Amino acid sequence: MRNKICEWFGIDEAVVSFGDETERELAARFTEIDRTAEYNQLKVLHAMQEAKVSEACLLGTTGYGYNDIGRETLEEVYAKVFGTEDALVRPLIACGTHALSIALSALLRPGDELLYISGKPYDTLEEVIGIRPSRGSLAEFGITYRQVDLLPDGRFDLEGIRRAIGPKTRVAAIQRSKGYDTRPSLTVSEIAEAIRAVKETAPGVYVMVDNCYGEFVERTEPTEAGADLIAGSLIKNPGGGLAPIGGYLAGKKECIELAAVRLTSPGLGREVGATLSVNRSLYQGLFLAPCVTASALKAAVFAAALYEKIGFAVSPDNSRPRTDIIQAVTLRTPEAVEAFCRGIQQAAPVDSFVTPEPWDMPGYDSPVIMAAGAFVSGASIELSADAPMRDPYAVYFQGGLTWPSAKLGILMTVNNLLREGIIGRQQL
Ligand SMILES: *Cc1c(COP(=O)(O)O)cnc(C)c1O
Repeated sequence: MRNKICEWFGIDEAVVSFGDETERELAARFTEIDRTAEYNQLKVLHAMQEAKVSEACLLGTTGYGYNDIGRETLEEVYAKVFGTEDALVRPLIACGTHALSIALSALLRPGDELLYISGKPYDTLEEVIGIRPSRGSLAEFGITYRQVDLLPDGRFDLEGIRRAIGPKTRVAAIQRSKGYDTRPSLTVSEIAEAIRAVKETAPGVYVMVDNCYGEFVERTEPTEAGADLIAGSLIKNPGGGLAPIGGYLAGKKECIELAAVRLTSPGLGREVGATLSVNRSLYQGLFLAPCVTASALKAAVFAAALYEKIGFAVSPDNSRPRTDIIQAVTLRTPEAVEAFCRGIQQAAPVDSFVTPEPWDMPGYDSPVIMAAGAFVSGASIELSADAPMRDPYAVYFQGGLTWPSAKLGILMTVNNLLREGIIGRQQL
């Protein structure tokens, strides 16, 4: 086996041994991850049975898409999985940013204030909100923005949140995952505490949670912690790697109704939106999602352990509970970031022969390098790495449809750093 890895992928024996030894040390963590996956797998299965998913649900509609039983039943399944009154799950939602943009523009009206209580939001949201001026932003519609930063230790500033909520505050927003930031991600129990602070101060303020990358990492979701609305992408965790497109929103009935008329049109709402032929993949992907998320989580834990031993700062480190599948490794130089990303690319099933390079991606404010050789273009539930090319040169690593393929990708990154002399043999 070892010989084959070295022969097929050109990995140094010492890197393979270092990986195997580290994997053995992580046995207890892996068992814990498998237990959570088992719980969430059964949660999804139970929801599918309760909603009476039938073979007919796997087919789709065309044109207006009226009476799409597959779409309607899938939305019922999502609502059950997230413990909400209702959900909107659509291939018409282009990506996670679109889902979040729908959520915010559904709940906010001119004159209202949006208050982010988890600090600066994900890069692409800056243009949705108008933090960076942009055509069509919420700011253009007279919606103002403020934020409450997290405390230096990465926790919610509960006092600051209580003070910041004013008469114009309509939505308090939380981003569960760190995104492209070095702060820790926020666990569901921390989110519950923050939501309590908001609701005690102003019960009428909606709480919206950006749940991207968080689904199925824990046993409960932010909606079970009191969030009125959550949103995410189907080419991340809940699509299980099979969803070819789409986004979801889940939450209170009223919030989903407001979102549905924003997504399609006032008056039409959720009644339209053909699913063409994607329903089967959305169901099958959701079914696989808890176990795919577990593979991605093992990859994150493994990468953290390896890179910590080598001597790089990692976030989170393995002493912290996980709430998303993102692993940040601060590599300190652009050369190391590029070597890391090449390793992820070299381990991919698709496009393994191409070399990732930094480029000015729409929606981001510095050049970004992305490594992904995915079956679904840009799907970051598949093994992938991204890094904004700016100090402190941290690479954000996520995904892995299967644990063995993800493990290989991480070993390839270490192999490149070793081969290029960025790290030494004695560090393994
Ligand atoms: C990925 C992500 C988004 C945006 O999703 P896209 O599908 O890339 O548009 C928003 N917020 C967070 C935290 C994310 O991880």
